[in-house]
Amino acid sequence: MSRKYKNIETKLIKSGEPEPKILGAVSMPIFQSSTFEYGGEDNYHDVRYIRLNNTPSHDALHKKLAAIENAEAAIAASSGMAAMTTALLAFLVKGDHVLAQDNLYGGVHEFISKDLPQFGIEYDFIDASKPDEWKSKLKRNTKVIYIETISNPLMKVGDLNAVPKFAKEHKLISMIDNTFASPVNFRPIEHGFDLSLHSCTKYLNGHTDLVAGAAIGSTEYVDRVRMKLNHLGGTLDPHTCYLLQRGMKTLSLRMRYQNQSALRIAEFFEAQPGIEKVNYPGLKSSPSYKFASELFEGFSGMMSIELDGGERAADRFIELLEIPINAPSLGGVETLITKPSVTSHAGLSPSDRRKVGISDSLIRLSVGIEHTDDLLEDFAQALSKL
Ligand SMILES: *Cc1c(COP(=O)(O)O)cnc(C)c1O
Repeated sequence: MSRKYKNIETKLIKSGEPEPKILGAVSMPIFQSSTFEYGGEDNYHDVRYIRLNNTPSHDALHKKLAAIENAEAAIAASSGMAAMTTALLAFLVKGDHVLAQDNLYGGVHEFISKDLPQFGIEYDFIDASKPDEWKSKLKRNTKVIYIETISNPLMKVGDLNAVPKFAKEHKLISMIDNTFASPVNFRPIEHGFDLSLHSCTKYLNGHTDLVAGAAIGSTEYVDRVRMKLNHLGGTLDPHTCYLLQRGMKTLSLRMRYQNQSALRIAEFFEAQPGIEKVNYPGLKSSPSYKFASELFEGFSGMMSIELDGGERAADRFIELLEIPINAPSLGGVETLITKPSVTSHAGLSPSDRRKVGISDSLIRLSVGIEHTDDLLEDFAQALSKL
């Protein structure tokens, strides 16, 4: 664990960078070599080979990822889904049971409810804001509790302090998908979580040009994920390792700007007569404000809204906008807008979507780093034409 640098801005630049510098290179070089000369290793997992996640490009990235969440270790993966599914499979075997938050990222929701049962692993969904109810869902074979820092797409923040406490009491591994908050706003390991998971595709990289994931935590737990990842093969290639650790250097600047810009935009939407609902944990009116304001340094750049006119108004609004791009995904420098019912949550049946509160007219917004005033002007002109 690198305690050498105090603040995340410095860690993003300095942590994990090779010392001494490789031939003096200021930017970490890419080690595009699948295999490396044998150096006397006696364990399969230590032989240097890209799939075994241990090239110099991986080492630099892993150290940076661990440092920014004040954790001992980290492992990158070929996507957020690779990190999350591999982490779950590293701690769950046939006959086990997992407790998971009820409105998870669509892919993980499906993996838990459709794929895990095929491996003989049971699940129950819980409301992350109601810890009093969790015990009734607990079973003798429960091994993992899995939640998200800010849930997608309704931006709900659960009782995050209660999760590690509950996990310790009942000897569970606590996992949290910290993608939406990013390590700038929330660092789960400091709050007692066992594993923090990321889709690095989003804020960590920030430039909408790669897919990657990560699991961050103690050396012991990250090693367990690494062993499973070495076998399942969801490894990040060295070139993407390089792109990700380059993108991460500006994370704090981007995130702090996006925090500010999104808060202003959410407040603007809340004041508009044509808008029925704004989901943003930074709004004082949000049911998530209490937990979020106690724990977060910022509320992130993600929000969702419901317009008065339902699905037709939603489609028209998206069409009328000039700056936001109609695309799924999030966390990049460009403002993106999407309807979760046709993108991130299209995999759920309409009735499952309704159960978790995602209407077909819900619009999700990922605020980029364009000037806030330009975005506000664009939203205002589109709303005026509805
Ligand atoms: C995008 C995302 C994932 C999946 O990550 P990929 O990099 O697309 O595999 C998981 N969780 C959340 C919260 C996400 O936004």
